[in-house]
Amino acid sequence: MKRPEPFKIKMIKNLKRLSKDEREKKIEEAGYNVFKLRSEDVFIDLLTDSGTSAMSDQQVSEMVKTEQAYAGSDSYYILEEVVKDILGFDRFVIVHQGRAAENVLFSTLLKEGDYVPNNMHFDTTKANVKHKGGEPVNLVVEEAYDMDSNTDFKGNMDIQKLEEFIQEKSIEKIPIIMLTITNNTGGGQPVSMENIKEVSELAKSHGIPFFLDACRFAENAYFIKKRENGYEDRSIKDISKEMFSYADGFTFSAKKEGLVNIGGLLGVRDEKLHEKFKNLSIILEGFPTYGGLACRELSAVAQGIIEVVQEEYQTYRHQQVGYLADLLLEGNIPIIEPAGGHAVFVDAKRFLPDIPQENFPAQALTTELYKESGIRGVELGTSAFGELDGEGNIIPAQMENMRLAIPRRVYTFNQLEYVAHSIQKLYEKRDEIKGLERTYAPKLLGHFMAEFKPLE
Ligand SMILES: *Cc1c(COP(=O)(O)O)cnc(C)c1O
Repeated sequence: MKRPEPFKIKMIKNLKRLSKDEREKKIEEAGYNVFKLRSEDVFIDLLTDSGTSAMSDQQVSEMVKTEQAYAGSDSYYILEEVVKDILGFDRFVIVHQGRAAENVLFSTLLKEGDYVPNNMHFDTTKANVKHKGGEPVNLVVEEAYDMDSNTDFKGNMDIQKLEEFIQEKSIEKIPIIMLTITNNTGGGQPVSMENIKEVSELAKSHGIPFFLDACRFAENAYFIKKRENGYEDRSIKDISKEMFSYADGFTFSAKKEGLVNIGGLLGVRDEKLHEKFKNLSIILEGFPTYGGLACRELSAVAQGIIEVVQEEYQTYRHQQVGYLADLLLEGNIPIIEPAGGHAVFVDAKRFLPDIPQENFPAQALTTELYKESGIRGVELGTSAFGELDGEGNIIPAQMENMRLAIPRRVYTFNQLEYVAHSIQKLYEKRDEIKGLERTYAPKLLGHFMAEFKPLE
């Protein structure tokens, strides 16, 4: 039996369900891009788990209680305490979301032609590195690309590859090494404590700053607790603090594990670097004690970080993701195994083997799922991560997935069953699904605004 949810529902939003004909019209008008749908036209929204969490009554009451001030609101000091206590960092700047932290970080550290190694860059991280003239490099372990490999820590950095890369490029060209926990793009796969430690030591031995992309740190900590020797009796909070202890800094989108709708942090140990981050973020984001947010958002982030490391919460969270994955596996739907921390990734290469990647099978699957049942997932494949060669031909992405991200504390187990059932129905008629042709895409992060048309 599933463990019961560790909360009850105090307020609800009624959902509207369009007919299939209406949905077909909506997706056509949206250029076959689910980012261009109105959310009110979506029945179950698994586009992202970012900024879509349901807040607790305590978060909301902290928001009401706090002082709204340009400088020195109590919310800042409350957040400072939480960041110290749970993440173990004394210095940080507040930003409006994760990519803003990336902007401040890379604007400060990168020069044209620099490299940034990471296990795997998230899309905004990759775009931010490129935007500053840098080159993002993914050095995740090989198993990450093997959909059938069922190992415990598929998000790990390949230490040998990293070592060789540093030798090859020289340390002057590598101003920072990053590690994304969990590896969102690679299926929400965790990184082991051992790996975090090894990357940290290697970075230190070369004098290169080591930063965590810590958007999903507590989900990663939960995996460590369940899978890594010696951590089974440690608390999520304690494991989280140890993970952060190996880093010189971190980026964090509070839209994920801050359990809020907007917010982010950029943490750092070095005082001089902190000074630089602070001064730049005053220009880009706002005064340090609010950082581009309303003060009440800071209170909600602080309370959210307290809640996200609670054992009952993480157990519930992982049970939801695992439940959806198990239902899909029972129906032989090809997914990335094992299930990650925040989402289930359906492998479109195996779901739609006859559609070449140039015709965006994961995008086609995503639009078909919406048409079929009003469920919105998102493509993380050639639209999001493909490149163009000199002649404008599409170079396919290594992975071709439809991600079903589960918003935190939002949907019931029944709704997840409906999702699995809908995908099953689609799987049974997968032969009828056609590929897409891309008619428009901007250069960086093109998938957000891209447009498509169905192939005849
Ligand atoms: C969401 C996310 C980001 C970017 O955060 P935003 O708040 O969306 O700007 C960066 N890295 C990872 C791993 C993420 O999941």
